[in-house]
Amino acid sequence: MIHEDIKKGLNHLIENDRIFHAVIFSGAEGIGKKTLARSFAMAIHCESKEMRPCGICPSCIKHKTGNHPDYREVYPEKDKKIIGVNVVREAFEDLYIKPLLSDKKIIFVPEADLLEAPGQNAMLKSFEEPPSYGVIILAVKNLNSLLATIKSRAVIYELNPASEDKIAEILRENYPGKAGEIPFLASFSGGLIGKAVALCESEEFAALRSEAIQLMLSFPKSRFGAIKLSDFFKEREDKEALLFDIALSFFRDLSVCKEGSGDFLNSDFSAEIEKTAKNVGRSNAAKALFLLSEAKSKKSKNAIYDLWITNLFIEMWEVLNG
Ligand SMILES: [Zn+2]
Repeated sequence: MIHEDIKKGLNHLIENDRIFHAVIFSGAEGIGKKTLARSFAMAIHCESKEMRPCGICPSCIKHKTGNHPDYREVYPEKDKKIIGVNVVREAFEDLYIKPLLSDKKIIFVPEADLLEAPGQNAMLKSFEEPPSYGVIILAVKNLNSLLATIKSRAVIYELNPASEDKIAEILRENYPGKAGEIPFLASFSGGLIGKAVALCESEEFAALRSEAIQLMLSFPKSRFGAIKLSDFFKEREDKEALLFDIALSFFRDLSVCKEGSGDFLNSDFSAEIEKTAKNVGRSNAAKALFLLSEAKSKKSKNAIYDLWITNLFIEMWEVLNG
């Protein structure tokens, strides 16, 4: 479980019937704001006396199937990039109609960054004078996108990224078949569980990673390998950041292997990486890794990508072959 402290605190409030009228969850994309907010809403309505949300009571089931009459999520209208004032008005007027099944009525805005000032002003009254049973939840990537008048009337929870270990643990529990790529994903996700899960579920990512690693495994053998690898990168320039991190993880593993450690990020390729490492000198592997990480941090926006990536891999190939 991530954001455990916040969950405990919220549950304590629910148990003591001291729920705030307005709660804001703030944090980066993929950090788990929406999951936390939905679990909070479900816990408020949950009929269990013990663990909330229980996930099995009639209220929890209604939440899971998107059918709870006292809970709604507010999104922009189709094809709109912002949440219009009309949408906000309609949703928040509804907050003043008493709940049907429970003693709380909950409105959740999962992408509150999409509320402009007029939209926020349209919901201000509900923040100032909420009905006694009303609960408003906002999830926002950037707190600065909310008006001070909104923020001052809400309790704000700023979510922190989870540790790599925590991410790996959650992925292992939920995706036992993906054990080999989990160390990479845990490291790559930067503590953002949403990002890790999305990649874990993506077949496109699995194929991309596997293809890239295959190319890197044969890369030290011939100069042509460097060209093939750079072509692969060139054709997928839109995935540059992801491919770069896959490459970094591979050369990190190669280096680590030369140091005699078996602590691989790409553990599903450990046997192949060990085989490739046999033909590479220890300091050369470290130098190649250094070149790659330097290139990532120093790349200028003006560099011509095709030329830059080809030069980088040829240079790395030369280094690997002493
Ligand atoms: Zn329940």
